[in-house]
Amino acid sequence: MLTEKFTPPYGGRVPKPTGVHALVRRTHEERVLHALRQHGALSRGALARVVGLSRSTLSEITSSLRARGAIVVVDTDAAARSGSGRPAERLALDPASGQYLGIDFGHRRVHVAVADAAHEIIADGVAHYDDAADWSVRRTVAVDLIDRLAAERGVHFGALQGIGIGVPGPFSGVTVPAESTDLPQRSMPEVVPFFVDRFRAPVTVDNNMRFAALAEAVAAGGRGAQDLLYIRLADGVGGGLVVGGRLVTGSSGFAGELGHARAVANGALCRCGKDGCLETIASLPAILAECSARGLAISTLDELGTAIERSHPIAADVIRDAGTAVGRIASAAAMALDPSEIVIAGDLVRVAPALVDQVAAVVRFEHAPHSETAPVVRAAVLDADAGALGAITALFHQSPLLAGYPDPAPTTPSGRNAS
Ligand SMILES: [Zn+2]
Repeated sequence: MLTEKFTPPYGGRVPKPTGVHALVRRTHEERVLHALRQHGALSRGALARVVGLSRSTLSEITSSLRARGAIVVVDTDAAARSGSGRPAERLALDPASGQYLGIDFGHRRVHVAVADAAHEIIADGVAHYDDAADWSVRRTVAVDLIDRLAAERGVHFGALQGIGIGVPGPFSGVTVPAESTDLPQRSMPEVVPFFVDRFRAPVTVDNNMRFAALAEAVAAGGRGAQDLLYIRLADGVGGGLVVGGRLVTGSSGFAGELGHARAVANGALCRCGKDGCLETIASLPAILAECSARGLAISTLDELGTAIERSHPIAADVIRDAGTAVGRIASAAAMALDPSEIVIAGDLVRVAPALVDQVAAVVRFEHAPHSETAPVVRAAVLDADAGALGAITALFHQSPLLAGYPDPAPTTPSGRNAS
């Protein structure tokens, strides 16, 4: 014990510090555990920087925590190292001591990811439902997927720390405590109380595009991009905003919903009731329908990909028109927000990279004569699982982008919730 080795300076005039010292030590331990809970696995050097303790003090704290089984060595940082030198061990909470569940409900599929207390993704999967399926169907599909993943990967939710749920449509981030049936927002999807009740864990819910934007900003920018506009082209068109280093929800949860900005006058009817929305031009169903209307009968993403690979002129034209529409709406948003990056995401970008090029060309054109200040337009680095990963990121609450975001699900290192 540190207290036993402590020799009071100044000839013992300082009172014997047993009580105070034990308290300081416990505080240090709590800071270390808190940092590992927030950041996942860290080397001792990184941990020392995060908690602001000297290496020698930290070493004593981590040795004691390891001896008691509170933290473990999970691996080394060899994979992430660029220079030479001995790889450093990475410490983490016992990975089995906590689970975090991320669920992203899209228009036609649900994506689930599970992270452990070391922040490693230990299971993930996707399941589909019909576009018209109601919440009772969607949540059943999601729970079946979670149960299947748990059985296949041996995941237990005995210490579930929180659930992040991404939902389509305008919504402001909010956390519902595990014990609560009192919902703070009238528009809360009925799926939220269901998951609170089923898993007895706190649920953080937000627009799924906002979660995807969060994951993309964190993945691409380390500590997070400071100003970023995220647009996802899928069955629908949605987006998210990072402004001044903060993930923005807006006054009514509508921030980033560029899919329902009007892109053309007298356009096709949108499912929102308006016509000519960006979604009626740049979503996957809209692009497939437009190809068919112009004489290229295709009905799937793969068929579109094949047509683009073969340089089919109709497919190329439709993709260019979609890129132009996205570029105009993105340019208008960029003039208001001045982001450093515009990120285009979604399956469409994978099969039609020319779409991103067209958005970039329009953004540069719209920014002339100040095109040198135009934002960088790039394809997303994350895939369809971005929403579920962003939901988990919000649960960790580790990113500075979440400053000003609703408080995260309360967590305890040894939280034991019913599965
Ligand atoms: Zn619309």
